Amino acid sequence: MSSPYTIRIVGDPVLRQRADEVTDIDGRLVKLCEDMVQTMYEAPGLGLAAPQVGVQKRFFVYDLGAGDGSQVLINPVITESDGEWEYYEGCLSVPGMGFDIVRPKQVHVTGIDLDGNEVSFEADELMARLMQHELDHLDGVLLLDHLDDEQRREAKKAIRQRAMAGPEDELPSAEPKRSRFRLR
Ligand code: ZN
Repeated sequence: MSSPYTIRIVGDPVLRQRADEVTDIDGRLVKLCEDMVQTMYEAPGLGLAAPQVGVQKRFFVYDLGAGDGSQVLINPVITESDGEWEYYEGCLSVPGMGFDIVRPKQVHVTGIDLDGNEVSFEADELMARLMQHELDHLDGVLLLDHLDDEQRREAKKAIRQRAMAGPEDELPSAEPKRSRFRLR
């Protein structure tokens, strides 16, 4: 079965806009989350934010594979962050590329789950990274924005070259050499 959604790729303006707060949790949102979870698993990725499938709303789905299944976080906010942690970070919207990026190691996150309950929790390391990365998407921020000038120039060049090669061309060598998890 093919994914319900096509994941939007860097260059798509929808990835650069600030998404709106979710005001209603209804059947439509539940269905959307189910379809996004399927799209995330098939990608495969550990998380997927609504703007990545063209939906300008503040929520994302994720599953770190710890056995809890997929989760949904709506209107998330990072209320505290602490420490520093470097992690080789990738993005389903910036395919085939990854970068060592330093971000806070721990974050405190609040938001709403799909049942409408308020949630509040601490996240560390990979979970904290996922939260920060997905929340960035809701603000129109991509991991490219966390690079220094030289890294960003290189990355943009690679993206342009890939665009010129066309979507039908397979570029197997473009996969990250270090095969850690891709966040989305
Ligand atoms: Zn991403």
